[in-house]
Amino acid sequence: MLHLSGFIAATDGNLSVRLDERRILITPTGMSKGAMRPSDLMITDMDGRRVKGKREVTSEIGMHLLIYRMRPDIQAIVHAHPRTATGFAAAGIALNQPLVCEVVIGLGQIPLAPYGTPGTPELARTLEPLIPDYDAILMANHGVVTYGSDLRCAYMKMETVEHFAQITLVTRMLGQQQPLAHGDLKKLIAARSRYMGVNSAAPMPVYSANGNGSAGFESQVPANGKAHRPRTSLRPRGSAILLEN
Ligand SMILES: [Zn+2]
Repeated sequence: MLHLSGFIAATDGNLSVRLDERRILITPTGMSKGAMRPSDLMITDMDGRRVKGKREVTSEIGMHLLIYRMRPDIQAIVHAHPRTATGFAAAGIALNQPLVCEVVIGLGQIPLAPYGTPGTPELARTLEPLIPDYDAILMANHGVVTYGSDLRCAYMKMETVEHFAQITLVTRMLGQQQPLAHGDLKKLIAARSRYMGVNSAAPMPVYSANGNGSAGFESQVPANGKAHRPRTSLRPRGSAILLEN
């Protein structure tokens, strides 16, 4: 599905599933995920040592192990390079604006982790602060990682991220964004628990994005406490977006 969706090219991407407390099933390195057979899959222990399989384990195993260690609720991980979301990651722009209600429910926001060299501990270190709170992370100048309660759920989050990136791109092409109002956002966050498979603790999205998401939604609520519905005009200045009410 990753290959057919165009989320990966050549030998890109990797997937894993937690089999039990001691073992993970993971894809091999140097192989098209579109041409992979079950016998190509590897089993490792929780330190990344090969337990079963003829091939070499993906070089991104460190990222997978870190997520499993930090998130006992996570059973599967997908890493890919979908075009539009990776474009945002390469532009230094997080997908952290509340533009689509179902993305707010499912993922909250999709933060941007700083660049880390693939296949090194540096990459895992850049993701570490974000893993506890988010189920989908943009990796600067690289791609996207998503994870969930099973492989299907982790893959669906990858589709959602890419779809949302495309929608966000369209709003940028139109030159205007109309984020969800404060009150409507609160209702969506409260509704999260009613949706199957949604257990993300991801914080609320923000109105203005500056690449690191530091401008908070709460700061956009006027002093009288009345929620407003700003229109955001997009005027790129480097990677920044200026907010105009
Ligand atoms: Zn990658």
